[in-house]
Parts: sequence; C-alpha cells; structure tokens
Amino acid sequence: MIIYLNGNFVSEEEAKISPFDHGFLYGDGVFESMVVTNGLVFKLDQHLKRLYDSLTVLKIKIPFSKDELKKLVLETLRRNNLRDGYVRLVVSRGVGYPALDPRACEKPTIVIIPSTKTFPQSFRGSYSDIIDKVVTVSTRKIPSVCIEARVKSLNYLNNILARIEALEAGANEAIMLDLHGFVTEGPGENVFIVKLGCLYTPPTHNILNGITRQTVLELAKNMGIKAYEQNLTRYDLYTADEAFFTSTFGGIKPIREIDGRKIGLKVPGPITEKLKKAYESLLLKEGTPIE
Ligand code: PMP
Repeated sequence: MIIYLNGNFVSEEEAKISPFDHGFLYGDGVFESMVVTNGLVFKLDQHLKRLYDSLTVLKIKIPFSKDELKKLVLETLRRNNLRDGYVRLVVSRGVGYPALDPRACEKPTIVIIPSTKTFPQSFRGSYSDIIDKVVTVSTRKIPSVCIEARVKSLNYLNNILARIEALEAGANEAIMLDLHGFVTEGPGENVFIVKLGCLYTPPTHNILNGITRQTVLELAKNMGIKAYEQNLTRYDLYTADEAFFTSTFGGIKPIREIDGRKIGLKVPGPITEKLKKAYESLLLKEGTPIE
C-alpha cells in the first residue's frame, strides 16, 4: 500500500513516524475511518466534518481545507487503485520534545492509510456477519465531561479494555454502560435495538455520533420506521426483539445474544434485515468517486 505521510506518498516501509510524535507519546490526535465500495467513498464529507470538529475541540490546526484533505484522500486511493476497502485519516498534534506541553508541536502529523477488507481469520467471531455473543462489561464509558465522546480521538484505551473483557469472557464483543448504567456503545460500534416495530438507540451525549448510526436513522425515516434516541438500560437490551451494531468498518451487524439472553426469534430480525439491505445498496451507489 502507498501511504500519504506529511506531504509525501511513501511505501509502508518508508512510512515512519517519529518517537517524539505526540500521537504516539500521548494519544494526542484524532482519526476517521471511511469505507470504499465500488470506487465510492461513503459519506466522505460527513467524515471530514467530524474530523474537523474533533480537531477544533482539541485545538489542533492543520494547513489544509476540507476540500484539500478530501483531494488527498481520493489521490491516495487512486494511487493504490483501491476500489473496495477502507481508508483511515490520522492527524496528531505532531512531533515535539517528549514533554506534555502542546506548544512543543509545531506542525501536525497527517497520515492517510488505505487498507483492503482482509483481516486475520482468528478475529472472525468479532467481525463475522452475525455477532453471536455480546456482553455488557464492567469497563464503563468515560463520561463526556471528562473526555468528549463525540471527539474521535486516538485515546481508545477504554474501548480496548472493553474488548479485552468481552474476549476473556468468551464473548465476541462488548457493550459499555455509562456511570449511571445506561447503555452507551461498543468499542467501535453504535448500538440499536428494535422493540414492537420501533428503533431505539442511545442519545449522542455519551457516544460517538456514528456516521453509520446517522445513516440508519435516515434510512429508518425514509422507510417509515419510527426511531427514538433515548436512554436504554440492560433491561431494554435483554427484552428487545432485535439488536444490532453499526459501524463504518462492519456496517450493520445483527446480535444473537446479550449477557446470555437470546435476542428475538430469528437473527437477523426483519427490521434489521431490511435496514441492512438498504444500507448495503446505498454503499454501492452513494459516495464520492475516487476517479
Ligand atoms: N463508536 C465508536 C467508539 C467507534 O469507534 C465507532 C467507529 N468509528 C463507532 C461508534 C461507529 O461510528 P461510524 O459509524 O462513524 O464508523
């Protein structure tokens, strides 16, 4: 793969980041992951908007407009002839003496990493079409008053600990609760449930406002499915008719079981299936062409 790194297109071997980079030293940076289907980058403008919002909150300035960055993303994909895969944009505060002070960083590090859709076979359970076993974990979501959940920052420690907890419990994926016990999200996915024909998902104050989540809410509206953004508890998960995760990486992933409770009679349930089909056909026809 050819990687974009600070103004140059380089090979994977040449794509080296300094040990003095604050992204590496402190997780001081942001990122976005986008999906490319059939030569179309899905919701590129929305991802760029979220990236710039994250940068604004962290006070990291980059020398590119959204349009310029968009051109670089498309150029990276063209150079790799990547028509189906993922592309990740990473921006860190940049290289500085290993001191916490952000003034040490004169310019941000900007990296664009394309990748295919292949991943190690041993990861299957967590990335298969249906997520069999999900557990709510003891790792709580960091409240947004501490670290704003809508900022897609390089700090994923809690999410990683949540995934580790799930794997060690013999499950495929985790759902984190907030400090009050309300459902938040998975380590890299938003959560939806279906109950009596309506869709429910947690509100955005303590979760990442996923682009797939927003797309599902739009699709539901167009399909006449009532959707509510409201606090959910484990009771709501256990008694749901259907449940699914959403993410750029995995799309819509039906869930079979949460904390040992089977969700619904058939997985995927009818509404999940309908939304999944609609989402997948959108990926094939909507997006910014790489050519
Ligand atoms: N929550 C978290 C914590 C995530 O990392 C992701 C993946 N970016 C999501 C939700 C899903 O967001 P999106 O649909 O934008 O990929």
